[in-house]
Amino acid sequence: MFDWIERPGSNAWFTVTLVAVATLSFSCDAQKQDTQPIPEAERPVVREIPEFSGEQAFTFLVRQTDFGPRAPNTPGHRNCLEFLHQQLTEYADAVNLQPFNHTGRNGTQYSLTNVIASFNSGATDRILLTAHWDTRPWADQDSDPRNHDKPILGANDGASGVAVLLEIARHLHQNPPPIGVDIIFFDGEDLGATGNPESFSAGAKFFAANKSMGFRPRFGINVDMVGDKVLEIPREINSDRYARHVMDLIFSTARSLGLPQFIHSEGDEVFDDHIPLNNVGIPTANLIDFQYPDHRTNYWHTLSDTPDQCGPESLAAVGQVLLHIIYTGAKTP
Ligand SMILES: [Zn+2]
Repeated sequence: MFDWIERPGSNAWFTVTLVAVATLSFSCDAQKQDTQPIPEAERPVVREIPEFSGEQAFTFLVRQTDFGPRAPNTPGHRNCLEFLHQQLTEYADAVNLQPFNHTGRNGTQYSLTNVIASFNSGATDRILLTAHWDTRPWADQDSDPRNHDKPILGANDGASGVAVLLEIARHLHQNPPPIGVDIIFFDGEDLGATGNPESFSAGAKFFAANKSMGFRPRFGINVDMVGDKVLEIPREINSDRYARHVMDLIFSTARSLGLPQFIHSEGDEVFDDHIPLNNVGIPTANLIDFQYPDHRTNYWHTLSDTPDQCGPESLAAVGQVLLHIIYTGAKTP
């Protein structure tokens, strides 16, 4: 149960959530209700939903692109891993690195690392949030064929999802959530061959194949390419197929927040890091705006995927939905 209160002097989101109301009982005796205070143990817990900072998230995006391309087996990749590890160690209850080897195109060997962070570790009721942190080594969709072997900067395709989840992590540290949350940054999402979806998502596949039996989040949400200045996130088809109740929660939350960035109609069918998770029984939705920047022009897997094409408001729209879901207990329909 929750309702809305406008924060005085601010047009920002501010909500108060009432939880643990199940034990409240109401007497028919009006006089008794008026005079007898509710015992402290039965009072509802008032939980504030923190305000997601698009500016802070955008700073996290630029911190990543400042390392240059984060293509596996490069200095930018190694330096960014160190940054992510340090940042999450500051915020999370526990951080684990999951290193693994991957054989890519033409037999190339890659050293990859998933980064796994746990918040409210003791909670049994948990959800999972994921994004990929690697960037594509080849701008093979660039309009100039001379750029096809150059690595992309990946401001949107890579840094944006991680930036949103780092800002979420900062809030989880400051305001203990009512449920457990795990955040995973997958490596090696973007090493595949265009047209062969099965060759992507190395990190998510490795995690899914090796996860412990005890790792059973109620559901997952993957965020990818959520930084586009003109953000339009439709209902991705595989997400509706495998995790419709999660999509319903996400899109009804976005609607209640009045966020125009969420488009309430069917979008593309995307193979992304949510597929391996769905395949091992974790219903996982994918939030992605694949039309980057729009249906006429394409910056996806090009050298034009740079921070100036991304915006704080876009990161904030996605982040605010995720914070609402977390701090209202992630109750799916
Ligand atoms: Zn990509």
